[in-house]
Amino acid sequence: MRVMIASVMHESNSFAGNFVPFSHFERRGVLHGAAIPPAYAGTRTEMAAFITAGAEQGWDIVPALVARGTPSGPIDAAGFARIIELLAAATRAALPVDGVLLALHGAFSSEAEDDGDGAFAATVRAIVGDGVPISITLDPHGNVSDRLAASVNAISAYRTHPHTDHFEAGQRAAKTLARALRGEIRPVVHLARAPLLRGFDACRTTPADGPMQRAMARARALEAADSGIVEISVQAGYSSADVFQAGASVAVTGDGHDPRFAAAAAEMVRLGWDERHRETVKMLTAAEAFAEAMAVPAGRGPVVIADFGDAPNAGGHGDTTALLALILAVKPTNTLVAAVADPAAVRAAQGAGVGGEISIALGGHVAPSQGGGPIDVVARVVSLADGIYVHEGPYTTGVTGDLGASALLDCGGVLVIVTTLARSIFDLAQVRIFGIQPEDFDLIAIKVMDAFRAGFAPIMRTAICCETGGTTSRFHVTLAFNKLRRPIWPLDPDDVVARHAGYLP
Ligand SMILES: [Zn+2]
Repeated sequence: MRVMIASVMHESNSFAGNFVPFSHFERRGVLHGAAIPPAYAGTRTEMAAFITAGAEQGWDIVPALVARGTPSGPIDAAGFARIIELLAAATRAALPVDGVLLALHGAFSSEAEDDGDGAFAATVRAIVGDGVPISITLDPHGNVSDRLAASVNAISAYRTHPHTDHFEAGQRAAKTLARALRGEIRPVVHLARAPLLRGFDACRTTPADGPMQRAMARARALEAADSGIVEISVQAGYSSADVFQAGASVAVTGDGHDPRFAAAAAEMVRLGWDERHRETVKMLTAAEAFAEAMAVPAGRGPVVIADFGDAPNAGGHGDTTALLALILAVKPTNTLVAAVADPAAVRAAQGAGVGGEISIALGGHVAPSQGGGPIDVVARVVSLADGIYVHEGPYTTGVTGDLGASALLDCGGVLVIVTTLARSIFDLAQVRIFGIQPEDFDLIAIKVMDAFRAGFAPIMRTAICCETGGTTSRFHVTLAFNKLRRPIWPLDPDDVVARHAGYLP
């Protein structure tokens, strides 16, 4: 059996205020053919799982294409056309194939196409033909379109957030493909979208009894009770995308067509609706979060303040200064701010060299009205780094990441990491490359959503979450949606949404 594998991934933030070119993807490496397997050897990723499963099943794995970009504004029209072209060419070159495994994200949009993932799946489908099973993995922050669901045979989203099970999701997708190739099942995706822009507590699985864990438990029970249900995949959705399909959805991969699969999807979606108000993270303002951090009793390990409102791992600019300003005004001892994306600050640090002193306007350059403008600081350069690191994990263990050229600055006693690229700090290795150990700090301020919990949980005293008004702010009423399906919670009145969804007469 010849099985094509490919991965095209991006989380596209419609509110970032820009479109990125194809070179944004080249930064992380666009890989073709034989260059793909070595790049994933030893990693806990979907692609590694596809390759491992291929060896176990005796498949002839045909690596086609990997094009992955870090979250940002959507890709521009020319860049999108290029990726479609590369995927189509790689798929044609892979023919004949018996099956396809794709690792997608689900929140890929572009200047030219709101439904990137649907377009990728439809492109592959058109080339391989209707008889070839396509099994895909998704991020549970994906927004699943009808076209995506109709173009593939099976969907396996990650079941953890922070996502530490990329590999396991890849294994499930491969297992479903193996069953289809043996003729045991004829998998079909039955999709139900919830009338929720945000659902299932943003799919957080760190709280034991949160809405996502309860949904997972129900999904596993439904699978156990019906051997025709191959897999139930819950997507919380990605709410920073102004696209029709944004929001929560449930995909039931069933053996063939049967109304009971759609019913299971509808039941799961209703569960999301009923728990829409339950959020397991307490969201504070920057000032509240800083005050709370200062009041935490002394103890081992850092107090972590996570700014969800300017999270580069969700497409934020990573340079807002609201929280930084509070910290620099008080200068609490043993504090690290990680990181502020500011290429000019990095260049100044490189010019001064280690030990040199620089006067800079730090951060807040991209969108000063959202989350705070530049702050004048005098800083001493503590260390310089090329920004390359290997994820310790457990999130994307073994994958190489890149902060761009970076520097560690001492701003009057507060250490601040400045980077060329906007990146969330969620892996301890990202801090260690500067010659410092995250375990040693009393306070660490980072720009990231829930992903940090995987790496930081073992070392942190406690975590405090805040919203500083950047482009990944969840205060959606302040964001202008034009293409999103309506009515939808929480943008429209509860009763209007409920009636439209058929939950009220
Ligand atoms: Zn995600």
